[in-house]
Amino acid sequence: MAKDHFVIPVFVPHNGCPFQCIFCNQNQITGQADNPDPAAVDAQISTYLDTIGDRGRQVLVGFYGGSFTGIEQKKQAEYLSVVLPYMNTGKVQGVRISTRPDFIDDDVLDFLRLNGVTQIELGIQSFDDAVLLSAQRGYTSLLAQNASVLIRKRGFLLGHQFMIGLPGDSWDSLKRTVDISLKLQPDMIRIYPAVVVKDTPMERMSAYAPLTLDEAIRRTAYMLDRFLPHHITVLRVGLHPPQDNSSIVRGPYHPSFRHLVNVERWKIRIRSMLKCIGPQSIKEIYVNTAQACCIYEQKECDKAQIYPVEWIDPNNVRLVTSENQKILLSLNMRISN
Ligand code: SF4
Repeated sequence: MAKDHFVIPVFVPHNGCPFQCIFCNQNQITGQADNPDPAAVDAQISTYLDTIGDRGRQVLVGFYGGSFTGIEQKKQAEYLSVVLPYMNTGKVQGVRISTRPDFIDDDVLDFLRLNGVTQIELGIQSFDDAVLLSAQRGYTSLLAQNASVLIRKRGFLLGHQFMIGLPGDSWDSLKRTVDISLKLQPDMIRIYPAVVVKDTPMERMSAYAPLTLDEAIRRTAYMLDRFLPHHITVLRVGLHPPQDNSSIVRGPYHPSFRHLVNVERWKIRIRSMLKCIGPQSIKEIYVNTAQACCIYEQKECDKAQIYPVEWIDPNNVRLVTSENQKILLSLNMRISN
């Protein structure tokens, strides 16, 4: 299937951020990347647009890398003014920024609206005050909730970014975080498992134990199972591969984290289905080609004939049991972009 949504990513680091979240290596953020020149951003957008062509596609420009609304407003305006001509000519349909919840208020939203921003992602991390405090995020859960309400009220698309497994985080706080997020109706989410990065306050916290990879997979699978039925777009699951592998000291980093989470979600469903059908085994499995790799990794399916096909929806799987019972499982497996 041809891709019809594109995000042109522009990296704008928040140099001189006045905070020190325990998981963040500010030197890495501020030392390795300079703010790009607006002319360079313009050239980047133009090159991307040439590459992707213009038939039936939606294009966003996404400003990532830090708290966009924390940088000098004159600089924000310079970046956004680069995108406006592309929006006016219909070549770009929107602008996405990411920022901290405490860098949002009515004036900020007025400015963003005027300058073409359509989507705002908030680095929430957790809606649990104890977790926010231990992570030294510098705002409360209530403030993050109010910022979310304001963004939605003003007609922007809302994104929530979560970091799971921070000090003090637990299944209970995770469930509360998901409950609160769902009430705020985000349009999109990202989930990052917390890892210990070199030269961060977290590296010096000897008592802190990051999640194991298995636990991070289980918690992320739980989150997807809560968010996806509400048609919330999952923009990202798992950390981007680091430029330097040695920058991650410990924690649940895996280059195929998203795939492992999907395997886990299949495992849960197939096991619960097998419980329902009793002593029968699975004889045949019809699965969308894109999801077949997850099925090959299921122990319960190793004796089954697996048929990767295009005609079955990626959210569904069709099973034939040893007693020829035909079962259509609706899994809501898709991770959309
Ligand atoms: S993660 Fe925290 S410390 Fe790092 S740039 Fe963002 S707000 Fe600043």
